[in-house]
Amino acid sequence: TCFILLLVTITRLIYTVGKTEQRKALILPDLDIENIFHKLRDDPETIQMASTDYGHIVHELPAAVFHPSSIDDIATLIKTSYNSFVPFHIAARGQGHSTQGQAMARDGVVVDMATLRKQRNGVSITVSKDPLIGHYADVGGEQLWIDVLHASLEHGLAPVSWTDYLYLTVGGTLSNAGISGQSFRYGPQISNVHEMDVITGMQFLRSFSAISPTSCLGKGEFVTCSTQKNLELFNAVLGGLGQFGVIARARIALEAAPKRVKWVRLLYSDFSAFTEDQERLISINGKKQKNALDFLEGMLLMNQGPINNWRSSFFPLSDHPRIASLITEHSILYCIEVAKYYDDQTEKNLDKEIQVLLQGLAYIPGFYYEKNVSYVEFLNRVRSGELKLQSQGLWEVPHPWLNLFIPKSQILDFNSGVFRDIILKRNISSGPVLVYPMNRNKWDDRMSASIPDEDVFYTVGFLHSSGFDSWKAYDAQNREILEFCRDAGIKVKQYLPNHSTQEDWTNHFGAKWMKFLERKHQFDPRMILSPGQKIFHKQL
Ligand code: FAD
Repeated sequence: TCFILLLVTITRLIYTVGKTEQRKALILPDLDIENIFHKLRDDPETIQMASTDYGHIVHELPAAVFHPSSIDDIATLIKTSYNSFVPFHIAARGQGHSTQGQAMARDGVVVDMATLRKQRNGVSITVSKDPLIGHYADVGGEQLWIDVLHASLEHGLAPVSWTDYLYLTVGGTLSNAGISGQSFRYGPQISNVHEMDVITGMQFLRSFSAISPTSCLGKGEFVTCSTQKNLELFNAVLGGLGQFGVIARARIALEAAPKRVKWVRLLYSDFSAFTEDQERLISINGKKQKNALDFLEGMLLMNQGPINNWRSSFFPLSDHPRIASLITEHSILYCIEVAKYYDDQTEKNLDKEIQVLLQGLAYIPGFYYEKNVSYVEFLNRVRSGELKLQSQGLWEVPHPWLNLFIPKSQILDFNSGVFRDIILKRNISSGPVLVYPMNRNKWDDRMSASIPDEDVFYTVGFLHSSGFDSWKAYDAQNREILEFCRDAGIKVKQYLPNHSTQEDWTNHFGAKWMKFLERKHQFDPRMILSPGQKIFHKQL
């Protein structure tokens, strides 16, 4: 009885002190707050920018947009919300390249990370070496991957895992996973981070942190985490959809950069042959294995879209008629896209190595295409398409995207139910449709990112563009695809997920949901951060 009484008294004391702190924050003007107040903007143009994104489908008006000059400014803003009697929502906005409002904050504050990037003017990327982990780059979460590439190339180095498009922020892609054709071999970008500085959504040390060795041991608002230190926060933030903190710095693994890339595309008319060959190619995936490919993706070619699209123009114009007639014959062609890096030393064996790798593949004879390009040209391949669309006013249009992860065992059912039925029947697809496999063992299951429970799984990306009055048809198609998968028992996970009900989020995270919830209570107990993901609906 004595013990219970003591416990009740201590709990009351903690509660009373907490309330007093809250009242103090309300009553006493905080000097720090005065320092950041003038960095809040609410002019119509700034509000408009923060209330839309690359999707142009969701529009949420924030109360203000924050233009930080430093990481401390962001910490002060979060602290202010956390200490307020009525906290306000805060969303970091990288480039706003989400498609469903994930970086928005209705009636809250959007932190414009681009302002911080301009202030820092590239100085928050430094390259160093550590005897244990080798070369790495320390990079501000607000930085763009294209700038990380250029800064590391100055040292002859580069990250190993990429996204197809490089004008995305480090904090934004690490909050999702960061995937591309390198993922089968090097893992997603979240598998290539050594350490991070994170400003969490909580201010104070949890009093019981000593009980659990994995709980947060930092000062609360600014915590360094890695596999050695504050592991729980490290795993929470990677793939954590911005729910646990703002990534202020990430230490990215670097390796020697190659100079050039041999880039090959192969056309298939049979989906089973296409996937079997993809799976065979990704089974050679050791990081140091010399005979492995460096990149593998795949895509559909259909009559609805042009043969070359904004993601890359590859096929020679003279070949378009014969490719088009094959598409007419088969309705859909499947294209495997692979790349092998090389430099002066490895060039002489390159053709032989590629020949060995591609030997026995079942592509349509005569439909083999290749290019030799510089490493930067290869990694930055989407940029020229973007600039072209921008000049035609076709970049800032609605993007009703759907990105899925599909277990390997169900990809044939997906092909017949979705590609050959829904997509061909509706006949509205415009934009690239990507299909390529990855190896689960290159992902770390302790991280927040949610993936299918099979050794190999596919990513399928419907990267639609539409008119402002026609995106609803694509949205309906996306819903039909998801309903088909649910009814057919295909265990898809959404990548860059967009769910609106608690039940859908619980299903999305599956066995990880309780962990996700626990981490939210630990690192953002007042549910301040990234409300645009629509995971937590608690009223502040
Ligand atoms: P935002 O959209 O601004 O933010 C995304 C989420 O992260 C939000 O919840 C936001 O609050 C949070 N966030 C942003 N910054 C931080 C931070 N510093 N700390 C914590 N949370 C933060 N993805 C791939 O994986 N592979 C691809 O190949 C790929 N290609 C793409 C091509 C194009 C043309 C586009 C538009 C997107 C592509 N994406 C790809 C998707 C991209 O990864 C996401 O849009 C991602 O969110 C990054 O965009 P962003 O930096 O603008 O982040």
